[in-house]
Amino acid sequence: MDADRTLPLEELADLLVDLNDVLVRLQPDGRISALFGHVEELFGQPATDLLGTDIGLLLSEDVLASFLKAPQKKILYCTVRRPDKRAVPVSVSVHRVPAGNGTAGYLLTIRDISEKLELQKSLRRVAVLEYEKRRADQAEHVFSELIHNVKNRLVVVSGFARLLTKQLDRFELAWPATAKGQEPLAACLAKIRESGARIMGQAAETLDMVDLINQKTYRDRETSRREINLNELLRTELKIVAMGARLEGMTNTVSLANSLPPVVGLYSDLSQIFVNLIKNALEAMHQSAVRNLIVRTYHDQDFNIVEISDTGPGVPEELREKIFEPFFTTKRGPRGETGIAGCPGTGLGLSSTRRILHHYAGDVVCLANPAGGATFRVRIPYPKQLHRRLAGMDRQGLERELEVILHSTEFLPTLPDALTAIMEVIQEDQTLAAIAEALTADYSVLEKILAVANSAYFGLQHPVTSCREAILQLGLNEVRSIVQTVLVSHSLYNNPRLPGLERLWQHALGTALLADELGRRLPDPGGELGFAYLTGLLHDVGEVLLRLAFPADCHLEVDLLERKKGILSPDDPTLVVHACLGQVFLKNRTRLPEPILDAILHHNRLPPPSGQPLARVLFLADKIERYYPNADPAYQKIIATMAQDWLAIDPTGLEAVRERALSKLHGLTQRLGVRA
Ligand code: ADP
Repeated sequence: MDADRTLPLEELADLLVDLNDVLVRLQPDGRISALFGHVEELFGQPATDLLGTDIGLLLSEDVLASFLKAPQKKILYCTVRRPDKRAVPVSVSVHRVPAGNGTAGYLLTIRDISEKLELQKSLRRVAVLEYEKRRADQAEHVFSELIHNVKNRLVVVSGFARLLTKQLDRFELAWPATAKGQEPLAACLAKIRESGARIMGQAAETLDMVDLINQKTYRDRETSRREINLNELLRTELKIVAMGARLEGMTNTVSLANSLPPVVGLYSDLSQIFVNLIKNALEAMHQSAVRNLIVRTYHDQDFNIVEISDTGPGVPEELREKIFEPFFTTKRGPRGETGIAGCPGTGLGLSSTRRILHHYAGDVVCLANPAGGATFRVRIPYPKQLHRRLAGMDRQGLERELEVILHSTEFLPTLPDALTAIMEVIQEDQTLAAIAEALTADYSVLEKILAVANSAYFGLQHPVTSCREAILQLGLNEVRSIVQTVLVSHSLYNNPRLPGLERLWQHALGTALLADELGRRLPDPGGELGFAYLTGLLHDVGEVLLRLAFPADCHLEVDLLERKKGILSPDDPTLVVHACLGQVFLKNRTRLPEPILDAILHHNRLPPPSGQPLARVLFLADKIERYYPNADPAYQKIIATMAQDWLAIDPTGLEAVRERALSKLHGLTQRLGVRA
């Protein structure tokens, strides 16, 4: 900064106040002559009290001396000394400024960096945890090999022990040691027999344990959701935890409901939830005189409920929410360090428990155990919660209720502005410039669009670098499909935590391509078939939402539809929530035209609304993509008849449509993938 120029200090101060910085002007001798910004928050005293104070008294470093020694050093780090003794870490930059009478004073920009430091610390911890996880994965691999070998050897040991006993039987038959004087031999043989039985007993017990661990390792690796009985899971996990913990003096009261409705989920998710809670309970009782672990399950109308209670010190009321925050731990090492590098607590168990439960629309709370100690109560909804809530409602009631549900449900995907914008320009009879402009709004999306346009699939001679060029070279229709594909994949199907999304995305893409192909073969007086591709891409958005917020319902509905191969007759009372949910979601968040919403709403129910070719096209495309290739001849015949009656496409034409769509799908998925 030029020392002779007059500094527009007040103006600069206004700017800095927004940034949470404090600006301090110093006289040449280091005394404060003016302050701007959040002074009281940083220094713990009002600005007026600080005027005339030597800056050296307020900061832990002599920043002026450091500046004079090395003026090229732009930023210095130190802490602010406050009357309340709290040390606030700050960064300070010093500049020389004119102070009048030809002398130079200083201008200090002081920034509170405590949040930044905390963030850095957290990031470092996360990096260490990731490293630990990688190592744990490697260890798990070695472990399962080991288990395999141990099991083989145990089988051999037990086999030899059995052989030994058999040989003994034969020996005793041939040379019974009953004669007088043979007592020592008889005693010796009895000892051998007893040892053989013991070896077999121990080997059998150890084999059971190994089997249990094997089973758990196998289940923890499962990648698809299935019905899980929480009682069984708890029994298994309790046995496994008991193998690895010192449980002398520990009692265990297990009271499991006679029957629990199964929960739909990943075994590893659910076991992680309960292992975290059981381990915490055991650790909490480490020093208690009475150590009783109580596990109880029951259910109410909507939820399975599991309570894990202990007789440890309990959790003080003011901490009962705080303990669910990431990195909160009271389990510290001898020097106060937390759970990195072999020290006791990471503070991540409860936060991950809560995070996982959110994905199951469940929750966990910490309560006081009336017998002393803590109780953690987990609630997980079981199938039909949503279906039951909506059963028997008429169309309007259903729509209203789904709107409420959408509003109150966390973790729903947000549609990027670009998607909404592009949908709007696509609907109107847009110009090239309007589309290009809408696309440029979101750079990350534009980048992907260009990557797809430049892929080998389209075989362009010269790479395109802007949307306008892409439109000129590929044509408006092609670019429109690329844009829609990228945007829908990006905003709705890009959630790495949701298992099975990849297949659902392939289905959406396949349906879109089929719908487009089918639509091209029909007259389109109303102009709605131009939306066939987009409608196909979006038709199962409701299923994505169900998977996110109501996995149990989703599983139930998918099973049901699977059994009926996606076709419900007009009098079938089955409620297809995902179609209604998708329609309501899109209606609320976009301005898509009615025919698209109608087609999505009716894509499983016969008959599709008459006079709406888009609904028929989507209905058929969905069935052909999902069920047709492997279906029995009777089903294929139904589809062929529908294609003939509704769209005047004969079986040969239908096969041609399928082939064209399939080859396009192949080219596109290679380039896009789910997480494109
Ligand atoms: P960590 O066990 O690594 O500390 P958690 O997230 O599992 O991390 O737990 C956070 C904190 O919650 C623990 O450090 C402890 O203070 C408290 N806590 C958890 N479970 C219990 C319990 N059963 N009894 C008492 N305190 C508990």
